[in-house]
Amino acid sequence: MGLPRLLEAVREYSPKSDLETVELAYDFAAKAHEGQKRASGEPYINHSVEAAITLAKMRLPENMIVAGLLHDVPEDTNVTLEDIEKNFGEDVASMVGGITKLGKIKYRGMERYVENLRKMFVAMASDIRVILIKFADRLHNLSTLDALPPRKRLRIALETLEIYAPIANRLGVGFIQGMLEDYSFKYVNPKEFAWVSGLVKERYRAKERYLKKVGQKIVDELKKNHVEVLDIHGRTKHLYSLFKKLLKYDRNIDKIYDLVALRVIVPTVADCYATLGIIHHMWKPLKGRIKDYIAQPKPNGYQSLHTTVFCDGGDIVEVQIRTEQMHQESEYGIAAHWQYAEAGKESSETANVQIAWVKDLIRLQQEKLGDSDKLMESFENLKIDVFQKRIFVFTPKGDVIDLPEDATPVDFAYAIHSDIGDRCTAARINNEIASLDARLYSGDMCEIVVDKNRKGPNPDWLKFVKTNHAKDRVKTYAKKKRLH
Ligand code: MN
Repeated sequence: MGLPRLLEAVREYSPKSDLETVELAYDFAAKAHEGQKRASGEPYINHSVEAAITLAKMRLPENMIVAGLLHDVPEDTNVTLEDIEKNFGEDVASMVGGITKLGKIKYRGMERYVENLRKMFVAMASDIRVILIKFADRLHNLSTLDALPPRKRLRIALETLEIYAPIANRLGVGFIQGMLEDYSFKYVNPKEFAWVSGLVKERYRAKERYLKKVGQKIVDELKKNHVEVLDIHGRTKHLYSLFKKLLKYDRNIDKIYDLVALRVIVPTVADCYATLGIIHHMWKPLKGRIKDYIAQPKPNGYQSLHTTVFCDGGDIVEVQIRTEQMHQESEYGIAAHWQYAEAGKESSETANVQIAWVKDLIRLQQEKLGDSDKLMESFENLKIDVFQKRIFVFTPKGDVIDLPEDATPVDFAYAIHSDIGDRCTAARINNEIASLDARLYSGDMCEIVVDKNRKGPNPDWLKFVKTNHAKDRVKTYAKKKRLH
């Protein structure tokens, strides 16, 4: 049974959590899903619990665990969102509602619009917490993909690589990104997956004992220099990220120096630089391979010092040096902010975090994090307003068109192609006839009926079109007509 594992996982990082509510949510979900089975034949509730356990691994607050347990209830059972609100409150219900909405977005392999689809995903989630729950949901779905027919498998794996993983990357949730990618890699490209995992296994085994020795040497030397080592461990590169790198280096594994890396965790930033100096004193660094991501973090906020050295016997080893907080953030990204807030720690280094899409959000979060009393409030305020002024509308083929709020089918038609705009005569929204000045909403599917004999746009459209492109076309045509 999964419930005891879930409770244990929550108790571990958050002893003060209200486990009773978690248990209530479990009972509620188990009852709602009663009799339902997964494609694998397991009881449905197992899926909900596994998703919740992943959220617990991210050390997220208990109301997110509750939302994780309930995430498929309104979609797949007779129990409604209102029932959830009555039993677990508005905040949990709004997260569950967000997850249900996200279920609408499907990737069908249209590369051109994939960035719009990502934006749409974030916009429709409208709450970072919803995205994290969706990641946990997707991870369990991926781990049970074998039970699905091959075509569906491939669609879900591709969607994960194209939509979920890049968003996980931008949110800096490294361990989720790695798992999403590696699971999907196996289904999207099984041959390459087998090749890369073979390479890693072989090399890691060969290097394991060597790295242990090198690691011990580093610990001894740092001790001599009064630098405390909190943790030192080897890490293997995630398979998909290794694969992408191999493609850049003629598939030559010998050119990849960070296949296995040593990670050294020390207490402070000053210790990081001291450690770097001490290691360079022990072994000669490779030219051009010293990277200071502390002074210059990666766009997703990643911080660490990286160096590659010629170790004993001429072996080349990459060493990554960071503080515990940097380590947490590189694994949990935006989720780490909740952890610090929960623990009441200061978030000093988070000031550098810059995630293009969610910059505003982070700013808001940091303002709130200053005051731990306002903690619960800050969770509620973590809504995404970056895309509040944009909507995302599907074409019948599944392309996603990015439009301003209040856009109409005419704007949509012009966004697809000027000719389609000029000749549009009618529209269908979600398979129902709609007028050309109807208001479109995110997630709508819009179809344009074109009249080939139509000479040009109707000047009356100017009264309602929203995009500049549509306005310009209609105006230009009207002017031309007057001249004739
Ligand atoms: Mn689910």
